[in-house]
Amino acid sequence: MIDLQIQSSLTDPSLLVDTAYINGQWCSAKDDATIDVINPSSKKIIATVPDLTVDQVRQAINDANTAWKTWKSSPATERATKLANWYQLMMDNQDDLARIMTLEQGKPLQESKGEITYAASFIKWFAEEARRINGETHPAPTSDRRLMTVKQPVGVCAAITPWNFPAAMITRKCAPAIAAGCTILVKPADLTPLSALALAVLADRAGIPAGVFNVVTGNAKSIGETFTSSEIIRKLTFTGSTKVGSLLMAQSAPTVKRLSLELGGNAPFIVFEDADIDEAVSGLMISKFRNAGQTCVCANRVLVHDKIYDRFTDSLVNAVRTLKVGDGFAENVTIGPLINENAVAKVRAHIEDSLQKGASIAYGEIPSGDDLFVTPTILRDVTTDMLPATEETFGPLAPLIRFHTDEEALKIANETPYGLGAYYYTQNLKRAWHVGENLEFGMIGLNSGVISMDSSPFGGIKLSGVGREGSNLGIEEYLEVKAWHIGSL
Ligand code: ADP
Repeated sequence: MIDLQIQSSLTDPSLLVDTAYINGQWCSAKDDATIDVINPSSKKIIATVPDLTVDQVRQAINDANTAWKTWKSSPATERATKLANWYQLMMDNQDDLARIMTLEQGKPLQESKGEITYAASFIKWFAEEARRINGETHPAPTSDRRLMTVKQPVGVCAAITPWNFPAAMITRKCAPAIAAGCTILVKPADLTPLSALALAVLADRAGIPAGVFNVVTGNAKSIGETFTSSEIIRKLTFTGSTKVGSLLMAQSAPTVKRLSLELGGNAPFIVFEDADIDEAVSGLMISKFRNAGQTCVCANRVLVHDKIYDRFTDSLVNAVRTLKVGDGFAENVTIGPLINENAVAKVRAHIEDSLQKGASIAYGEIPSGDDLFVTPTILRDVTTDMLPATEETFGPLAPLIRFHTDEEALKIANETPYGLGAYYYTQNLKRAWHVGENLEFGMIGLNSGVISMDSSPFGGIKLSGVGREGSNLGIEEYLEVKAWHIGSL
């Protein structure tokens, strides 16, 4: 089911679909079961998508395996060209794709457009990388032998993706898989399947063959179990919570799958006393409030040196005042609704816990009732025993923690089992090196609130996961190295 009024508001209504995409076919669940897709802004159902049966998912895996037998030996230029077509179709349909994303995810339309550009950039990047999958030769022990390595696609892959970046988390995984010669099945987040299905419409138009890119919708737990228990699927790539990631890792153990896991974070954002305060505030505004604070590299703990604490707080309050909360389609809105009631409850719990333990509100308010529209809030005098310091908030809350020395800042920053993103602002060269070398995170931004782009490896350490996406490293996750010994020459 699709809300026809919404469908007709698109320039190309055929991009909004309510069926899964398996082996080049559009299909409903065998038993006609469906899952509702809700607009978080209006809380109205905008569409339903199939709740596929286990048998249908198993069949999809078999079909992807059949498709792989051909795709794995397709010429690199063919893979590159088809991915380049897909990239171009995404950019040509950017406005419609952005509208679909705002409808199901809530983020402001301008941000959705930005995500489409970002998502498409991975397809372009890996279209280019497809033609650079090189092998090596190695010194052989005797003159009648030769030794070389070749790289080959891992095989059939599965991706499980989250709702906060409904397009980019799919392209960042699927583009390198397809470029490498793998086939892939995506289980999009139940909350945001429509963006994934729109990408499938365009993949089909781009000439990506049946079975190479598939979108299976339905029950997360059941599809997760079907993927992980399959002997055909050789690689699982997941972005989401550490809890689900480690569960999938355990479920993948019996079949010893390759894994890429991009899990939770608890990013510190450190502002040293010599920082350019205006730059630090603008960096924090991007890192903290993009997607209403619902990104895994969001600044979660803002550490500010005692000497500039008040000045920084005042500047930040002035900047946050300019944010406008509302429906993602409304003019000038910069913060959309949070994804659901649980997300709001978490922000509320973090504020209440901090206030009880002695923090105060510098700007904003405690979210009330079931309203998904949350005022961006700044807390001052936050200490490390309060909830925002220990857990990812995943909402528009900036807790300001005071520190006095570099070592204290580093200690607080690293005092987390997570290690995804970290940010720090300083003009001092010696401090820049010392802090950068001692932050225990997969990605660090020095005087920068932006740390994700096609050309840079994205990923974390510790409980934040394994593997890297994007950059020259991203495609390696979908390649096996085969050592080839040749004797009797
Ligand atoms: P978030 O907190 O960001 O929603 P989740 O880890 O719950 O993160 O969800 C990320 C993705 O994992 C979504 O596609 C969701 O449907 C899926 N998911 C949730 N639980 C399971 C599970 N038990 N097995 C497989 N996938 C799951």
